[in-house]
This record gives sequence, C-alpha cells and structure tokens, in this order.
Amino acid sequence: MSQINWFPGHMHKARKEIAEVMSEIDLVIEVLDARLPRSSENPLVNQLRKGKPVLKILNKQDLADPQITEEWLAHFNSQEGVRAIALDASQQKLVKRLPEICKQMIPTRAKAERPVRAMIMGIPNVGKSTLLNAILGRKLAKVGNEPAVTRQQKRYTVQGGLALSDTPGILWPKIEDPDSGYRLAASGAIKDTAIEHELVATFAARFMLDHYADNLRARYRLTDLPEIADDLLDVIGRKRGCLRPGGVVDRHKASEILINEMRAGTLGRISFETLTEWQQKDEAARLA
Ligand code: GDP
Repeated sequence: MSQINWFPGHMHKARKEIAEVMSEIDLVIEVLDARLPRSSENPLVNQLRKGKPVLKILNKQDLADPQITEEWLAHFNSQEGVRAIALDASQQKLVKRLPEICKQMIPTRAKAERPVRAMIMGIPNVGKSTLLNAILGRKLAKVGNEPAVTRQQKRYTVQGGLALSDTPGILWPKIEDPDSGYRLAASGAIKDTAIEHELVATFAARFMLDHYADNLRARYRLTDLPEIADDLLDVIGRKRGCLRPGGVVDRHKASEILINEMRAGTLGRISFETLTEWQQKDEAARLA
C-alpha cells in the first residue's frame, strides 16, 4: 500500500505544489482525525511549512476517547509553531472561534489589519469540507478525493479576518506501518477495497478486545468475550442473525456490522492510537 501512495513521480509533484501553496499562505490549518492523529498526518506538511505556523485540528473529537485526545493535544501544543485544538466540525460554537485563533497565531498581519491567509489541508475523509463549510457558513461543492494540493484554484474567501482558500488541499496518508493502514481503513479514511474488508474487521476485533472490551460487552450484550478476534466476529454474526444456510455465520456481514458501528461511534468513543505507543515506536526506530 505504501508504495502506491509514495511513488516518486507523484511525490515530486505534490512536494512542488505544497511548497508553492506554502509561499502564498501565512498559516496551515491541518485537519486530522482525532481517533488517529498520527496515522492521519502527512509529514510533508511539517517538512515544507518552513517555519509557518500550523493549526492542527483534531476533528471528530466526538468519536474519539477524550483522555487520549487530551494527551495528543498536549504533545502537539508543545511543538514549535504548532497549535492544536480538538473539534467536532458540526459544533458551531467552536468553529466560529477559528478565525480569532488564526489571527492570534499571526499577530503581525492581524495588527496591520490584513487578513490571515490560510488553507485547510488533510487526508480524505477527516472532515475538511465539513469544516470549511461550517467556517464559511455555506455549502461549497465537495471536491474529489484524489490526492492533490489544488493550487490552481486560488479563490480565497475572507471571513472575520481570515482569508481561507475555498478548496482544501487533499493530502494522502503516509502509511508508516501495517497498523496505520488498518487504522485508516477502520476509521473510513481509506477505502475498504484498499484492504480486504474482513482483514480490517479482524484487526478491529483484536483492537476492541485488547482496548475496549467493556464497550463490546455492553453493545453486544456479552458476559464472556472470546479470546480470538475471528471468534468475536462469529459471536457478533450470531447475535445479529447474519447466518448463511446451514447456520454458518456470514463473516462479511458480521465484519460490516463491527466496522460500521465502530465508525459511527455506536461502540462508544474510541481512539485507535495513543501518544505513548507512538513515542515507543519512534524510539525503537531511532535505535534501529
Ligand atoms: P473531507 O474528505 O476531509 O472533506 O471530509 P468530509 O467533510 O467530507 O467528511 C467526511 C465524513 O465525516 C462525512 O460523513 C462527515 O459528515 C463526517 N464528519 C466530518 N466532521 C465530523 C465530526 O467532527 N464528527 C463526526 N462524527 N463526523 C464528522
């Protein structure tokens, strides 16, 4: 998967486009998925921002584990030139504060009464369009999900001192390891077809058993949980009547139920990755 996303020709073009966009703006608004803040990042933003500040928005906070989100926020907020906030794009009250936050981040322009120029960037499905529409208070046409920083569309709309590009920059996820791929698939950021649906569900089942066992018990009314991920899919399938003739569980349907309920928040507020886990991973990579 990572080869598809990172082939050199594409990388080179994207690099060039991001660099050009950077020269036109004062600030990047990077939208991340609060449930997987690291796996939904694209490191090019950090590499190419050349000292320009970035406002990281951990969107879909309503679906993420609040305590884990707090840890990620503290981590990002300790980084140079970074400010991070958690948001639910439909939460008008918080969204309306964004122009003010952006102006605080670029005091020189705000003092000169010039609008702060910004572009929303992020990987597909993190909520860029929802956020853009909420800030601008109107419905803009949804752009396709093909990775591209659309520098050819340079319309900016000024709102409360913030000049915001009408078209979000679409980045592609950097899949650092197989877990990132599965997390992105389980969250809905990458298409199910990119990874076999049932493989994603097996990953999701293992993850839920290891980290959110109580949520599984409550949702599927189970007193005992199986130890093996595949067995959990069988149990869910039986509970929900996904049976083929002969009483065999329809694994595809059971997989869909688990993944859809995880994505929708029906299984509770779930975060797919913690800061500590990534710090350990980074440390191991550094020592390798
Ligand atoms: P984009 O591809 O980054 O522009 O993402 P969209 O704005 O199209 O959003 C992708 C999906 O996530 C849509 O179904 C939105 O309704 C949903 N979504 C966006 N923001 C939020 C949020 O804060 N919370 C929840 N629960 N869903 C959201």
